[in-house]
Order: sequence, then C-alpha cells, then structure tokens
Amino acid sequence: MQDSGVKASNLVWHEGYVQGEDFEARNGHRGAVVWFTGLSGSGKSTIAREVEWKLHEAGKRCYALDGDNIRHGLNKDLGFSPEDRVENIRRIGEVAKLFHETGTIVLTAFISPYRADRDIARNLLPAGSFFEVFVDCPVDECISRDPKGLYKKALDGVIPNFTGVSAPYEAPEAPTLTLPTAELDLGQCVDNVVAMLRNQNII
Ligand code: ADP
Repeated sequence: MQDSGVKASNLVWHEGYVQGEDFEARNGHRGAVVWFTGLSGSGKSTIAREVEWKLHEAGKRCYALDGDNIRHGLNKDLGFSPEDRVENIRRIGEVAKLFHETGTIVLTAFISPYRADRDIARNLLPAGSFFEVFVDCPVDECISRDPKGLYKKALDGVIPNFTGVSAPYEAPEAPTLTLPTAELDLGQCVDNVVAMLRNQNII
C-alpha cells in the first residue's frame, strides 16, 4: 500500500513472489520488532546488542538498529529539534518494517521520547509483531552512569534539547515489557526479553 503524503505520482506497488510467511518458514521463527525506548544511558543499546548476540547464537535471524549508528548514515541530515526527532523515528519505523518483512527480529535502540511517534512506528507493523520495551531507569541513575559523557554536557548547557534534562520524555503507558535497569542486572534484562519473545510466540 502507498502511504498518504507521497510526493511522487505514477507509482505502482509491486508485490514480490516471496511472501512474509516464506521468509519466516526459511528462518524457522516469526519476525518481530522489539522497540526499546528510554532515556539516554538507560541501557537500550547494551541490552539490544546482548539480545542480538543471544538470538544469533541460537540460530535466529535478528538485527539491532542503533540510534547513533543510524544518525551517522541514513539520518545524518537530522538533528534533535522536535521535527527532526519525529522524522528520525518515522524513518527508523520504515526501516524496521522492511526488515520485519524479511522475517527478521529487529531490535531498535532509540530514545524515541514521544508516545505519538512510537505509535506511528507501531502502526506501520502488523498487529502482534511490535513490542514496546520500556528501559526504565531514573534520570539520576542515568546521570551517574553517563556512559557517553552527554549528561555532563547537557547539564553544563553545552547540548541543548537533551531528553530528561532539557527535553521531555514520555514514558510508555502500556509497554509489553518494562526493564528496571537500576534493579535488574544485564543478564536478567536479556533473559526477560527472550522470555517475552517466547511468550509472544515469535521464537
Ligand atoms: P542507551 O543505549 O540507553 O543510551 P547504553 O546501553 O549506551 O544506554 O548505556 C547504558 C549503560 O548502563 C552502560 O554503561 C551499561 O553498562 C550500564 N548498565 C548498568 N546496568 C545495566 C542494565 N541492567 N542493563 C543495561 N545496561 C546497564
């Protein structure tokens, strides 16, 4: 289907011969998008990478999409203004959708601070294939971790529009899973994500 808001005309949607279920049969599991959301430093990338490794080792087709990496390429024209954040998440949602069509378990690690934007990503995917995971860590703990030194810069006023400091974060209202990373260790978080994928009949 074409989205509304498409600029070009004379577009024809082409269905491939290989369908989603063919990819899933080849992979031996269903595709899914696991959408990690939370403050900077809450643990999204660390958990997504570990889950990717664990699933890969178990023979699953999976891929972690990471915030900073996408901003180096596909989204290098985008900054951190509210409009750019919206476009950032929109494009990531579309990329996640493409991977999902190949039956991949996609693990996205983006702050994605706005509820409405996460809902846009969710609505791109078929029902039952988008799982919101709230990586829930108090901002004070994120500030003390400060793995990239960004909170210090934000608190010093060097970085404007920093989520949790000078820009809002809207916590999920009904996430599939919440990971309180100040209470659970990394291994427990990873196990909970894998268990969620089992409970949801993805793997
Ligand atoms: P984000 O991707 O959310 O910005 P990162 O994964 O880059 O966050 O950084 C999270 C930091 O918190 C890392 O230094 C990691 O080692 C640490 N950490 C402590 N406990 C946990 C946990 N339970 N899960 C994930 N990361 C944790």
